[in-house]
Amino acid sequence: MTHATTMDSDDTIAADRERFGRFFLPGPTEVRPEVLRAQLRPMIGHRGKAMEELIAGMQPMLQSVFRTTRPVYIASSSATGLMEGAVRNGARRRVLSLVNGAFSERFYQIALACGLEADALRVPLGAVHEPEAVAEALRKGAYDAVTVVHSETSTGALNPIAELAQVVHAAGDVVLLVDSVTGIGGAPVETDAWGLDFVLTGSQKALALPPGLALGVAQPSVLERAATAAGRGTYFDFVELEKNIRKHQTPNTPALSLFYALAVQLEHIRAETIEGRWRRHEAMARRCWAWVDEMRERGVALEVLAPPGYRSPTVTCIRLPQGTSGPAVVKALEARGYVIATGYGELKDTSIRIGHMGDHTVEELDAVLGELEGILAP
Ligand SMILES: *Cc1c(COP(=O)(O)O)cnc(C)c1O
Repeated sequence: MTHATTMDSDDTIAADRERFGRFFLPGPTEVRPEVLRAQLRPMIGHRGKAMEELIAGMQPMLQSVFRTTRPVYIASSSATGLMEGAVRNGARRRVLSLVNGAFSERFYQIALACGLEADALRVPLGAVHEPEAVAEALRKGAYDAVTVVHSETSTGALNPIAELAQVVHAAGDVVLLVDSVTGIGGAPVETDAWGLDFVLTGSQKALALPPGLALGVAQPSVLERAATAAGRGTYFDFVELEKNIRKHQTPNTPALSLFYALAVQLEHIRAETIEGRWRRHEAMARRCWAWVDEMRERGVALEVLAPPGYRSPTVTCIRLPQGTSGPAVVKALEARGYVIATGYGELKDTSIRIGHMGDHTVEELDAVLGELEGILAP
């Protein structure tokens, strides 16, 4: 590893740019060399004017990414931290957790671990939650909060969040807590227009930053609850996060180097526009699904796990032909210089997942699909 010593040379940056486009995990995702390099800036005091300017300068772009007029919290934790914050601050007592994969199961387990009365409404892996079924469950139980994962990274299924928000709000004083970790920055999300009471993401997915930051937006509906929530804790206390972000500060020492990276990445997003980013992800996803169809026509029995119309634009889970092993395909691809993931949990042996998110292009995706073709249909 000669990296550490040559990090600053322009040759290395050029070489890193050259190498970009081979890492397709559904998180962490590949990070541009310029964004990685932003982390080398010197430390500043986090109670000083420079820090306030850094945070203040990022807020308008963060708001345009989330499509909100609310302040955007920047927590120095992985996304799971704000999942816990969501239930601690947003739920009163009874939670309905919509479960369709590993991350929505985690949201449910977090609610239980925080001492809430939680019920899971489950649909099969690859499926999404139908608004009517959720409305029905809300009629049966006296729930005050619903947890949902927008883009279920373990299956590639995309929940109809706007419709789900409608039925949740029609049920009365119920808030919708949304994990859009592989949605925000890749799939359209309209935080304010859809009435998402709380929505969160992590830095290392569609935003294509190193891991370590969680970003979230709370509506007044959630802040009202937070104000009287006895168990809201300290690190993810939304009352404190809200009070601080309004002063362009953070309650505790922020992961400053990651803030520098975020500031640089937000400039890239500004240049592309958020709509442009959504379109690029949509194009990558369509290319991936079309490739699966092409392969099937050639006799290789691949299948996208999620049904048409409910597929995430950022991650695709592909079922492999019988007898083909997920880990073996991933290993063979690694030998060709590309990284993708196996299926998650019980899907591990029978499927693969491609994270076509972050800063990748259709051309880069084509290259990895070409290599996969060489493995699956030699
Ligand atoms: C990656 C992921 C998480 C967990 O994120 P961490 O940053 O590891 O805490 C949660 N939900 C979804 C949908 C994810 O893809």
